[in-house]
Amino acid sequence: MNTLKRIDPRRPFTITADGLKRITLGVVGAAGSMETATHGAGASHREQAKPRRTTAAPQRVILVAAHADRGALDDHARQTLAGAALIADAATEVVLLVFGEFNGDAAALGADKLIELPMFDRRNFAPLDELNALAACVAAYAPVHIFLPDNATGDGDLGRRYAAAANASVAAHVVEIDAAHVASYVQANTAFASRALPEVVLLAPNAVDAKLPFVGAGERVMWRFDGEPASQQQGHGTARDLGIEEIDAAQLALEEADFIVSAGNGVSDVPAFERLAVTLGAAIGASRVAVDDGKFTRDKQIGATGKTVEASVYIAFGISGAVQHLQGIKDCRHVIAVNLDASAPIAKRANLTVIADAQETIAALNEAAAAARTARGTGAALLNSTAVAEGALA
Ligand SMILES: Cc1cc2nc3c(=O)[nH]c(=O)nc-3n(C[C@H](O)[C@H](O)[C@H](O)COP(=O)(O)OP(=O)(O)OC[C@H]3O[C@@H](n4cnc5c(N)ncnc54)[C@H](O)[C@@H]3O)c2cc1C
Repeated sequence: MNTLKRIDPRRPFTITADGLKRITLGVVGAAGSMETATHGAGASHREQAKPRRTTAAPQRVILVAAHADRGALDDHARQTLAGAALIADAATEVVLLVFGEFNGDAAALGADKLIELPMFDRRNFAPLDELNALAACVAAYAPVHIFLPDNATGDGDLGRRYAAAANASVAAHVVEIDAAHVASYVQANTAFASRALPEVVLLAPNAVDAKLPFVGAGERVMWRFDGEPASQQQGHGTARDLGIEEIDAAQLALEEADFIVSAGNGVSDVPAFERLAVTLGAAIGASRVAVDDGKFTRDKQIGATGKTVEASVYIAFGISGAVQHLQGIKDCRHVIAVNLDASAPIAKRANLTVIADAQETIAALNEAAAAARTARGTGAALLNSTAVAEGALA
């Protein structure tokens, strides 16, 4: 039987900063798109002085709604916002509605207006309140389209609820989009369905390149949502927030871990390193050399021939940052490197590099944790979230 995989003739394209339709598989031959695909030096050069997308008087609005995560939008939300900005014409304003606190640069992400709703938090389940807020914002701005990232962490659910409540046309899992149409895989990915741009667009990840050649106006709007909390409305007590169940980081698949400490050839005291991981509530990763040495099991290997991870915080102890390793951490948000060598390649990727001995740093962190536990009089982990580690970068 011939098992060679065929090119899918209906594979979707990706909207890029240049408005190019880049075929996502088999990039070779997509004339003109290689620079964007490889994020070459030219792209970063262009970022120096970006023009405003439009200065014309707005006549229409595209609304983009997304939850923030610790003050920032994740890649998927940025792509969704970029998608709206790329298809908006000169007379269309892109309004960003953020559920939760937002400290990012809305203009750089392509938004012309920013509405922040800090009273909402991704960690609290309040679907009806969020629906009411979105509906109120729609009533105020009368957008022609509403874009949301189609994720499982609140936005996808909110978009579906809104479309059902407003009886709006909707397309979910959108993998291809331009100003005229959207397309999604349907029937267990065996068919490709296309339609005119609906009122609600739920965008799949990576359908749009979030890098933009322009900026938005980024004006912060003091729009207030004064809706009565749904929990206090009659007949709306259908949803109850049971909170988030914290689980041991060691039980998480590395690909899902939000906080990873990783050991390389420069880590010799493995038990101390493992103690630190438990203290921090972080999952354990390793470089290939550390795995080949038998210090860690193969499932801990991160990199081209290991796992690809997307942690918010990735601490690399004694890892040089070989290209194969960096490939596995390209989607991590903050990288902290601890290395004796300031010129190690990991330092170029890291947001913060500590030039120090890995063993000494690990021992100092373990000691600090023990001291803090004693001071607090609790056996609880000192740093059980990524927030503190991220704070170090602030
Ligand atoms: C086809 C192929 C696939 C590969 N796939 C992967 C992969 O999936 N994942 C992967 O990780 N690698 C992979 N590699 C290997 C990769 O090229 C590197 O060899 C490897 O990542 C190096 O691991 P390391 O950084 O831990 O070790 P080293 O290269 O030995 O670097 C150790 C680092 O620790 C620092 N250091 C030393 N002592 C200390 C100390 N006491 N305190 C602090 N810092 C210290 C050093 O300055 C150095 O930067 C692959 C290679 C090939 C050819």
